[in-house]
Amino acid sequence: MLLYMPTKVYSEQGCVEKHAQELASLGSKAMIVTGKHSSGKNGSLSDVTGALENQHVPYVIYDDIEENPSVETVMKARELAISEKTDFVIGIGGGSPLDASKAIALMAANPEKDSTVLYDCNEALPYFPVACVPTTCGTGSEVTPFAILTRHEKRTKKSISHKMYPALALLDGKYLKTASRECLVNTSVDALAHLVESYLNTNSNELNRIYSRQGMYAWAEFKDRLKDDALTEEDYGKMLHASMIAGMAITHTSTSLPHGLSYPVTYELGVPHGRAVGMFLGGYVEQYEDQKEAAKVMEYLGFPNAREFHAYLKDLLGEVKVPEELLEADAAAVMDNPAKLKNYPFAITKEDLIRMAN
Ligand code: NAP
Ligand code: ZN
Repeated sequence: MLLYMPTKVYSEQGCVEKHAQELASLGSKAMIVTGKHSSGKNGSLSDVTGALENQHVPYVIYDDIEENPSVETVMKARELAISEKTDFVIGIGGGSPLDASKAIALMAANPEKDSTVLYDCNEALPYFPVACVPTTCGTGSEVTPFAILTRHEKRTKKSISHKMYPALALLDGKYLKTASRECLVNTSVDALAHLVESYLNTNSNELNRIYSRQGMYAWAEFKDRLKDDALTEEDYGKMLHASMIAGMAITHTSTSLPHGLSYPVTYELGVPHGRAVGMFLGGYVEQYEDQKEAAKVMEYLGFPNAREFHAYLKDLLGEVKVPEELLEADAAAVMDNPAKLKNYPFAITKEDLIRMAN
């Protein structure tokens, strides 16, 4: 059994300002990587630039990361990182800019390589240090070694082959205040899926279940207020915390079938990641072969049974309509993906997978 979590995490109010020195000490010039608008509105970008200015560390900003970032975007951003001679990367935002920041840190540290090394490379490549400031409560990318990019030529999304742990994660719940209800719901369901898929995973064990169990207890604390649209400021910190622990959980086990089934739904229909995963999560737990284990998950999350859990998710997310042909092709692709199937501890059929959709 292995427990390995090298990212240094600070989770507290005002943490970017408080830990400015540590942030700035990651290099001599920073590349800030963020989305188009949100970090300007929620104060995270000005907190980071303020921290760097106070420490007299120069920076350049790339603020054109789209949702579900593509390999092409990463390559465009790395040109700026190289031409500006930056030597560390600060990702600010949801999973999209955080994942992009990892891939940019890899490509910028290897200027002679082209984008094929993102996926087709067995060699361990060096990469620049990465710091992450999450502003959504779903992916846990600030602590995971994964960077999921859109591969247009394959018409899907996939994590790059390299495992890249951020050096530093700075979590402040106040950045969630500007997030829409839809963003909070979708991203916290993503964190929930990470916890459940990690716990009910072939790779789970008593050691790494410390993360998934603890994360489920944390998630249970705000679940009713999330459904009732009655979240408090205190909840934002809890949601960010649950999402970070969920990231630690999947770092050890990886995800399972709901994530595997979600990618084509996001790629083909543009359904946000958390919502796409959530539409398979209730069915996955209801059909999970070891119902004793599933019952433990329900207990940690505070649901009487898997049926109620499924109903809660349907109520929270609404119905996601997926054309039958897409669902068929999606399930067939998962059946053809041994890496994903092996994370589910039992035999499964294509029909079982299709039945998981809400
Ligand atoms: P996202 O794609 O990063 O962002 C979604 C939207 O939320 C964007 O429009 C963004 O605006 C906005 N936003 C972000 N923070 C906000 C805030 N505080 N207030 C208002 N709006 C805000 O969403 P995400 O669900 O966090 O990330 C999804 C990506 O992460 C997917 O690509 C998924 O595959 C990946 N993922 C990675 C891991 C991992 O371990 N690395 C795990 C799960 C998922 P702007 O564009 O203006 O910033
Ligand atoms: Zn996810």
